[in-house]
Amino acid sequence: MTKEVKYKAVEVGAGALIYAGVWAMASYGILEERHALWGFILAYAVMAASTYWEQLKKVPGFRFLDENLLMILATTGAFCVGRSREAAGAMLFYQVGKLVEVISLSRTRRSVADLLDIRPESAILKEEGGERTVLTRELKKGQTILLRPGEKIPVDAVVTEGSSMIDMKALTGESDPKPVAVGDRLYSGSVNLTSVLEAKVQKLYQDSTASRIMRIVEEANGKKTGALAFADRFTRFYTPAAILAAVLTVLLPPLLLGGDESTWIYRALIILVAACPCGLMVSLPLAFLGGISAASGQGVLVRSGACMEALTKADTFVFDKTGTLTEGGFRVRKILSEGMPEERLLELAAAAECYSEHPIGQSLCSACREPIDPDRVSCVKIYPGCGLRAVVDECTVYVGNERMMERKNFRYVPADEPGTAVYVIVDGEYAGCIILSDIIRPGAKKLIRWLNKKELAAVMMTGDNDRIAESVAAELGISSVFAEMMPEDKVEQVRSFMESETEGEKLVYVGDGINDAPVLVLADVGIAMGGLGSDAALEAADIILMEDEPSRIINAVRISGAVMRSVRQNMIFAVGMKVVMVILAFLGYITMQNAILADMVVMLINILNSFWITKYPE
Ligand code: ADP
Ligand code: MG
Repeated sequence: MTKEVKYKAVEVGAGALIYAGVWAMASYGILEERHALWGFILAYAVMAASTYWEQLKKVPGFRFLDENLLMILATTGAFCVGRSREAAGAMLFYQVGKLVEVISLSRTRRSVADLLDIRPESAILKEEGGERTVLTRELKKGQTILLRPGEKIPVDAVVTEGSSMIDMKALTGESDPKPVAVGDRLYSGSVNLTSVLEAKVQKLYQDSTASRIMRIVEEANGKKTGALAFADRFTRFYTPAAILAAVLTVLLPPLLLGGDESTWIYRALIILVAACPCGLMVSLPLAFLGGISAASGQGVLVRSGACMEALTKADTFVFDKTGTLTEGGFRVRKILSEGMPEERLLELAAAAECYSEHPIGQSLCSACREPIDPDRVSCVKIYPGCGLRAVVDECTVYVGNERMMERKNFRYVPADEPGTAVYVIVDGEYAGCIILSDIIRPGAKKLIRWLNKKELAAVMMTGDNDRIAESVAAELGISSVFAEMMPEDKVEQVRSFMESETEGEKLVYVGDGINDAPVLVLADVGIAMGGLGSDAALEAADIILMEDEPSRIINAVRISGAVMRSVRQNMIFAVGMKVVMVILAFLGYITMQNAILADMVVMLINILNSFWITKYPE
C-alpha cells in the first residue's frame, strides 16, 4: 500500500466511525439534535480537512474550479441550511470515492512497474579467484559475469563463452526464443533459457536496456496526456456552469413556480453534488496507464498518452526505407574492383565505415572476414544521405553513393546492377564499387497491407536511388514514393505534408533513428524501430518498437484505439448520468447522499471500463 492510500484510508475510516456513531446516537435519541450537529461537524472536519487544504493550495494558480469545489460548496451550504447529517454523509461517500480513486491508480501504476521491473537484484561475477555474487548496480564495464539458465540477464553484455537460447519476451513482446553465441549482444531483462553463458559487461546497470525502458514508462505515467489536459479544461468551464445552474435554481423557481425558499436552496445544493464529475476524472488516467502497460507488454514503448490519442487520428504513415521497411542487413552481392584485389577493396571500405552506425556500414564490416582494427582509421566525416570519408592506413577513402561522387566531382563508373551500389574512392582515384542487396522485412508487408485495407496513406521516403526505391515500393504495395531524399529533404517534405493536413489529422513517421531523428521529432507521432540498440531512436521518438518489427505498429494503433474508445464511452456515460441526476435533483427526487452514491456507481463502471485495457490481447 502506498503512503497516499494509507493516509486516505485512515482519514475515511476515522470519519466513517465518528459519523456512524453520531448518527446512531442521534437516531436513538441518546444525543440531542443540537449536540449531534457538533458530532457531524467533527466527522466532516476529519474527512474534509485535506480536501480543503488541497483546494486552498490551488487558489494562487486559479486552478480551484473543479469537482472538489462543487463538493465543498454543496456540503458547507447544507450545514448552513441545517442539513448537517446530509452534509457529512455526502462528504463521507465522496471521500470513499476518492479512496477508490487512489487505490485504483496506485494499483495500476504498480502493475506497470511490476510488469517492467525485469531487472534482477544480483549477478554472479567471475573473477580470477572464483565466483562471487554481487549487487547488479555494482557491476562495472569489462567485468565478466556468469549467466545460469533460467536466470534474468542483469546488464547489457556480450557473450564471451557458450551458446544458449534467450527469451526476450519481456523486452520485445516476441515469444520465440533467440539463439545466441560468442560475440552476440545480451540485453538486460531478457532470460537465459538453456545453458550457462559467460559474458562481458558492456553497460552499467542504470544505462542498460531494462533500466532505460523503466525510465521511459515511468516518465510516460507522470505526463499529462492530451485527454487529461482536455479534462482539466472541461472542468474549468463545467464547474462554473454547475454553480450557475445552482444559483439560478435558488433565484428563479421561487419567483416562477413558487414554493418554499429553503427547499430550493437545498435542491440547488444537491444539484452541485449531482454535477460532480469525479468518477470520470478517475477513469481517464486509468485508461491511459492501462494502454501504456498493455503496449509495453507487446514490445511497444509509448512515451505519453498524448501520442496514443494522436495515433488514433493518424491518416498518413511515412516510412524510411533502409533499416525500417527493409532489414538494413545488406549482403554483399558483387564487388567490381578497378585494379586492387576485391578483398582489399572491401576491406578498405569496411575500415572506413568501422565507426558507422549506418546499416550499409555495418553490413560492410560484417562482410569482412577479419574484424577491423579501429586504430587504423581516423578523421571520419559523415555526409548524411551520401556516405562518408575516412583516413585508413594513411589513405583517404571516400565511400558513398552516386550523389556523393557527383558532389565531390569524382570520376566513377556508374554501376547498372540491381541493388545498392557503394562507390569507393581511394586517394582521389576510383577504386571500384560494391553492390549490396537488402531484404524487405516480412512484417513490413503485413503492416502495409493492413494500412491499405484501412485506407490509411503509406508513403516511403528514402535516400536511395529511384530504381531501388521503386522496386521496394512495388513489392510492398506502396504507391507514394520519394527517392533520393537527403535527411533535410525528408524534414521539408514531412513539414509540407503536415501543413497540407486538415485539422485533426495526424502524421506518423516511422524510422530507425539513424540520420532521421529530426523527422522523428517533427512528425505528430515519431515511431522508431529498434529500441534495443539505437540511443538516437530512444531519445527522439514518441513510440519505440523494441524489436525491429514494423507490424508492431498495428498493435500500437489497436491499443490506442481501445484507450480512446474507453475514454469516449466513459465521458458520454458520465456526462449523460450527470444530466439525468441534475434533472432529478431539480425536481426534488433525490437526496444529497443519493446524488453522490450515484456518482460512485458511475465511477465504478468507468473504472471497470478502463481496467481491462491493461489486458488488451495481441
Ligand atoms: P534511407 O532514407 O533509405 O534510410 P539514408 O538517408 O540513410 O537512406 O541513406 C541514403 C543513401 O546514402 C544510402 O542508400 C546510401 O547509398 C548512402 N549512404 C548513406 N550513408 C552511407 C554510408 N555510411 N556508407 C555508404 N553509403 C551511405
Ligand atoms: Mg535510414
